[in-house]
Amino acid sequence: MLQFDIEHEDWMLEGACVYADTDIFFPVGSSMKALKKASEAKAICAECPVLSECLEYAIRTNQDSGIWGGTTEEERISLRREFRKTGLVINH
Ligand code: SF4
Repeated sequence: MLQFDIEHEDWMLEGACVYADTDIFFPVGSSMKALKKASEAKAICAECPVLSECLEYAIRTNQDSGIWGGTTEEERISLRREFRKTGLVINH
């Protein structure tokens, strides 16, 4: 059973990224600079109190760019497939 309510996105205000540089959450390409940005963003996500909500939101709303819930867009492709097959509930 999903625990996510798309109508209530208050969790976004609790994200560890609220005051972070948004640029690092949307790295472009696969250069070393982009990979470093992605790594920095993921480190912030790792400490985030709403990581599960963020990741589930990203999967359910097909966020196809940027770091969401500690994942890259490529990483979310397989998670999205799993989500569609099983109705996966994400717990971190
Ligand atoms: S999981 Fe990452 S992208 Fe999502 S709200 Fe938290 S810090 Fe921001």
